[in-house]
Amino acid sequence: MRKVQVMPDSLANKIAAGEVVERPASVVKELLENSIDAGSKRIDVEIEEGGLSLIYVHDDGEGMEASDLKAAFLRHATSKMLNERDLFRIRTLGFRGEALPSIAAVSKVEAASRRKDDLLAHTLTIEGSKILSEAQTSHPIGTSIWIRGLFFNTPARLKYLKSMQTENNQIQDIVNRLALAHPEISFKLINDGREVLKTAGAGDLLATIHAIYGLDVAKKMIPITGNHLDFEINGFIGKPEITRGSRSYITLLVNGRFVRSFILQKAILDGYHTLLPINRYPFVALQLTMDPSLVDVNVHPSKLEVRFSKEEELAKWLKEAVNQTLLYSSLIPTPIKQEKRDYSQSFQNKLNFSYSTMPADDPRVSEQVIIKEQSYVEDSFENTKAFFTREIYEKTEPVNEREAVLQSFDAKDQNYDGSLDTRQIGSTLEPLAQLHGTYILAQNEEGLYLVDQHAAQERINYERFRKILSTPSKSGQILALPYTYEITASEAVIIHSSQVVFAQLGIIQEPFGDRSFLVREIPDWFLPGKEEEQIEEIVQLIIQGRGDFSLADIRDRSAQLMACKASIKANQYITRAEMESLLLQLSNTENPFTCPHGRPIMIHFSLYEIEKLFKRVM
Ligand code: ADP
Ligand code: MG
Repeated sequence: MRKVQVMPDSLANKIAAGEVVERPASVVKELLENSIDAGSKRIDVEIEEGGLSLIYVHDDGEGMEASDLKAAFLRHATSKMLNERDLFRIRTLGFRGEALPSIAAVSKVEAASRRKDDLLAHTLTIEGSKILSEAQTSHPIGTSIWIRGLFFNTPARLKYLKSMQTENNQIQDIVNRLALAHPEISFKLINDGREVLKTAGAGDLLATIHAIYGLDVAKKMIPITGNHLDFEINGFIGKPEITRGSRSYITLLVNGRFVRSFILQKAILDGYHTLLPINRYPFVALQLTMDPSLVDVNVHPSKLEVRFSKEEELAKWLKEAVNQTLLYSSLIPTPIKQEKRDYSQSFQNKLNFSYSTMPADDPRVSEQVIIKEQSYVEDSFENTKAFFTREIYEKTEPVNEREAVLQSFDAKDQNYDGSLDTRQIGSTLEPLAQLHGTYILAQNEEGLYLVDQHAAQERINYERFRKILSTPSKSGQILALPYTYEITASEAVIIHSSQVVFAQLGIIQEPFGDRSFLVREIPDWFLPGKEEEQIEEIVQLIIQGRGDFSLADIRDRSAQLMACKASIKANQYITRAEMESLLLQLSNTENPFTCPHGRPIMIHFSLYEIEKLFKRVM
């Protein structure tokens, strides 16, 4: 008897399903990618019970004719690849032709599809790879697919699934990512009858970010664009002051495909450098465009992982682009690096002060001084070509293109390398004076320090509050007047399911109508007079985390908020004794170099740097 036999298709499909259809979110992903490939302008998704009872996707794309609809559910049927050469120039999201047969192998499928030129749609009912019925029906142009009873015939797979909340989160996550990848498509997601996402589909990435992450985040995104011989980027990166405790708010898109790339993610984070507090991650939505031949998407069946042929070059460039954009938006003021200058020329140069504006909502004074030497910058301009182009909102907008380039190079040569972070301050800082009621001038044997007094106090308070919060006492305080807050219906669902977390934090509340809650008790560590703000902050944190967050995260954020509220602001004169005490407390913190939002606390001018400025050394 022959040993080697061809597997029946149904078995092969079931095996393939193990790779492609890991969980409900992977089904959603495959169906949505097909709808996107079909040129849809509008895609509606509905799920019930974490996608296990129902996943319904409806699109207004090009549709399929009867024979194609059937073929699509057979193994390796694809309309997207004609020959092997195509494999190296993939422009569609799908190409392996195994998604639909894999899904059909482990669920009960109904599908209806109609093309522009057809009057009726063709429908199919399939169960575990077997076609049960076919018919014609009326249906708008496009395709509808209903997946029911996912994994009904693979109980082992069911066992691997996490809680319904986790599966819901995963589905929400993938719809978010695809919506970010396609701002030109309107996405709607309904979860157990509630609309949880709707994007306009007007082609505006920032509007999509707004729809997904909310206004607070959208307001703090910086546009980034850049060109390289082989690559192009555009998108938005979040200011370092808005971060989350997980990397899942970083969305990397390559030629319209959402991908995971450890190397590129690291490049982005490296681009932020020391701006990010430890274990905090930014919001990022970046589109990378490159020739399809430079990226291999056929590494893994889920097509989430990709390989780049010029990976190192790409990573280096990406890091630089992120870094430059952040520097350029004037988040870090630093003195220019002296080593690279030509002193024979610069002797006559006057020091030229240029002003750059801090983020509008920065609690500190709005203007900071960056020292730069004009002629040096101009010299370097002669020899170098434009590297990045970018559009920037806000007041930092350069007057003209030339100035933009100058500023960009200026920022680059300043080359803030965060070396303070790894360097010790050395011995205690001795205060010399206070500058504009905002900065403390201090010295030790290593030179001169400019210390931002607000940032310093925030750091001190933050570490203090974090300690208090990590061992919260059990006693709470009952509010004489309960505090009510109102949120949207879908947010209320998240708050509802997070009651345990609130209780653990010492916040006792009860629902008050459909969309409001009544807070009766708060923890004793809340700052007097700031109770409402703190509740709002925690509620927002839980909503933004969509139920997926850690207590530690919330405590950390609360500590940050309390630290900020409790700290002295700029333009506040303090005595010498107060300066001394502040610097002493600062030197006792774990990280005296960046405030909890990641901004620098101090700028250091080494004696050597000062001596070079005065031409005492060469
Ligand atoms: P792939 O996307 O890798 O080609 P799939 O199994 O996901 O494989 O889909 C098979 C084929 O079915 C696709 O190539 C496409 O021609 C067709 N198809 C699937 N979904 C849709 C849809 N929503 N609209 C139009 N055509 C579709
Ligand atoms: Mg597909």
